[in-house]
Amino acid sequence: MSDNHADIRASVRALCEKFPPEYWRKLDRERAYPTEFVKALTEAGFLAALIPESYGGSGLTMGAAAAIMEEIHASGSNGAACHAQMYTMGTILRHGNDAQKKKYLPKIAAGELRLQAFGVTEPTSGTDTLSLRTTAKREGNDGYVINGQKIWTSRAEHSDLMLLLARTTPKEQARKRTEGLSVFIVDMKEQAKAIAIKPIRTMMNHATTEVFFENLRVPVENLIGEEGQGFRYILGGMNAERILIASECIGDAKWFIEKATDYAKSRAVFGKPIGQNQGIQFPIARAYAQMRAAELMVHEAAYKYDAGGDIGPEANMAKLLAADASWAAADMCVQTHGGFGFAEEFDIERKFRETRLYQVAPISTNLILSYLAEHVLGLPRSY
Ligand SMILES: Cc1cc2nc3c(=O)[nH]c(=O)nc-3n(C[C@H](O)[C@H](O)[C@H](O)COP(=O)(O)OP(=O)(O)OC[C@H]3O[C@@H](n4cnc5c(N)ncnc54)[C@H](O)[C@@H]3O)c2cc1C
Repeated sequence: MSDNHADIRASVRALCEKFPPEYWRKLDRERAYPTEFVKALTEAGFLAALIPESYGGSGLTMGAAAAIMEEIHASGSNGAACHAQMYTMGTILRHGNDAQKKKYLPKIAAGELRLQAFGVTEPTSGTDTLSLRTTAKREGNDGYVINGQKIWTSRAEHSDLMLLLARTTPKEQARKRTEGLSVFIVDMKEQAKAIAIKPIRTMMNHATTEVFFENLRVPVENLIGEEGQGFRYILGGMNAERILIASECIGDAKWFIEKATDYAKSRAVFGKPIGQNQGIQFPIARAYAQMRAAELMVHEAAYKYDAGGDIGPEANMAKLLAADASWAAADMCVQTHGGFGFAEEFDIERKFRETRLYQVAPISTNLILSYLAEHVLGLPRSY
């Protein structure tokens, strides 16, 4: 790829330098939200990268957006607190009507409205999205009444809006298996009384929650696109999410590889640098090769995304390979550091916990393999 977005990368690096490891360590200890970091990224316009200029965004390519997320992670920061602001709006952009785009996109671009919450996963259905149980019942001409529960709704406490997937037609009455679900824009502040948010403490600092809806009223103008077609809209948006999270994994892998290389050069045991031993060199070199290969697939996916067309296979493979590369690099980095890999002040154990998530979310490794087996290789559906 010719354009590696050097200027954007340098600006992101410069911004991240203002948020040193101590900042992230303290937040991690307190499980606190990086408000100042998210504010700085928003003010610099990075989170509006994918919003067209006509709606107040920067109108950048997916390649540029991916470079932003990668650089955040390669600097030792964590984009998980705000990455959804970059891609969740894509559902409004692609499937919303003119009035919705004009109402929401400029404010999201300016950071006046945070669209950070994405309510898809439920406790009973898990990966089987079509079995979700949250219902949206049409009530007269005014709108819908929503009841149900979501789980793992990240950043719900730090968002003004939520993109919510709910069932509008009972599963057995839907014309097709993939129909009967609809997407809504929920104004969480306006509807606060009908929404209960319960934080879930996790092994890393991720601001994730359970969300309960009791008679949540959503006006009809907040339905995105056609009723019953929501699953298709959400799936389309997931490709962007996968590419951007894959970029974060590439950034993490680069961070682990740099840390390990520096340490292997400076740490002397038995009178020589540990990095002189092939037992230390080879895992670092292997992690580097694995990261570079995954990086190529991320570039390919971003390039195809910008060119248009079906990028399901590339987006999924980018996510799979990048998550594997960051996890392999994380494990190698701990091993290279010996005991210090476990010490909080080296930041490795924190990044190790953070990058582990991407084997499971936003889609687990097994489900990507099933997708490739069925949709690319034509093998029988396994579930
Ligand atoms: C920290 C965190 C943040 C998240 N943020 C969000 C969010 O903001 N919004 C949101 O909607 N969701 C979010 N998620 C949910 C995430 O997308 C799911 O956890 C993920 O898709 C896996 O679903 P599950 O946890 O229900 O696992 P399950 O579906 O219960 O699966 C459990 C395990 O079984 C495997 N498995 C299941 N079915 C099959 C099969 N047919 N073949 C082979 N293996 C199978 C899976 O791969 C997985 O390893 C988040 C999750 C976490 C942990």
